[in-house]
Amino acid sequence: MEKICIVHYGEIGIKGKNRDFFERKLVENIRRFAKAKRRYGWIEVEYRDGIEERLKKVPGIRYFGIGYKTELEIEAIKDATLRTLPEKFETFKISASRRNKKFPLNSIEVNRVIGSFVIEKTGKKVDLENPDVTVWIEIGNEALVYSQRLEGIGGLPVGTAGKVVSLVSGGIDSPVASFLAMKRGCEVVLVHFFNKTLHSENVRRKIHMIAERLAEYQGSIKLYMVPFEEVQLEIIRIVPPKLRMVVYRRSMMRMANAIAEKEEAKAIVTGDNISQVASQTLENLNVIYSASKLAVLPPLLGFDKEEIIAIAKKIGTYEISILPYEDCCSLMVAKHPETKAKLEIVKEFEEFEDLEKNAVEKAEVFEFHS
Ligand code: ATP
Ligand code: MG
Repeated sequence: MEKICIVHYGEIGIKGKNRDFFERKLVENIRRFAKAKRRYGWIEVEYRDGIEERLKKVPGIRYFGIGYKTELEIEAIKDATLRTLPEKFETFKISASRRNKKFPLNSIEVNRVIGSFVIEKTGKKVDLENPDVTVWIEIGNEALVYSQRLEGIGGLPVGTAGKVVSLVSGGIDSPVASFLAMKRGCEVVLVHFFNKTLHSENVRRKIHMIAERLAEYQGSIKLYMVPFEEVQLEIIRIVPPKLRMVVYRRSMMRMANAIAEKEEAKAIVTGDNISQVASQTLENLNVIYSASKLAVLPPLLGFDKEEIIAIAKKIGTYEISILPYEDCCSLMVAKHPETKAKLEIVKEFEEFEDLEKNAVEKAEVFEFHS
């Protein structure tokens, strides 16, 4: 009897014609770290120690079970059931589902037969409403029997929605935004703007740590570190303090678009949120986003800060984001930044096309693997 993981994917089950494509992608993503094959409406993954932690981080998995695979034979299913039951419980429930109609018993009959068997062997009681333990039995080419079900992160498999460039700062928000884009099936390429004359190696390390953490969800991730000091100096030289923030964010947008073109990415993701900081008034977001040719997607726009922090803690980026090393832009924020920037006025100060081109060319590219 083989110990295995049974992976269930929610939403991809309802994608009609695309279903095959979504399933293949999910299997491909799991195969980066384990042996996996597609079965009757689930994916079977070879068990090994610690695999739970990996499966919990794969977008597209709704939940997964850890249990046993047996031949399609009621005596073998009984054995597997006894083996999967925990040591301590008072009440239980059997929940069978038969996809392979060649098996002679239907799911209700399997529930009855296995239920009676468990009562006979253990003396415990059935409770259909609120059992201490549920034994799931899935009947396909073989039977899969498990009593331990773990939540996945849900969403869609990475790679099913195409590529995006995600602007990642050292803050709490943008790593969460990058994660949410992955969770909806995007392959994320990270871009960070970095001022090496202002910052120690600590900022660089912090961004690398964030990238490493995000790679755990995506399998691997690319990071562009774009040298921002020359553009930044020029902005400080020619742009009045009130407008600098909007101008530097527009400059980042243009450079992110240039990287997206190289990467064949189809959208830009940011950690923006409505009205959290001064640059995030609707007026300013309009001016900033109009510097982008590609659609700009801010996955956090509807979240409160507490909700964002809760996700950051869950995905493990929070502890990294609160390390006390700020990204280059925190230094550019005026005391009273413009909250209603006007595009015509902002445009008058923008003459750093060459500096931007140069910065993108000099970007360092890293790749992290989980
Ligand atoms: P975060 O917590 O992500 O830093 P924030 O609430 O502090 O966001 P800002 O600092 O104004 O807001 O930045 C808004 C967004 O702009 C960020 O979420 C990120 O997508 C992008 N951004 C800001 N600074 C940088 C940077 N140095 N490199 C790359 N992207 C950046
Ligand atoms: Mg920030």
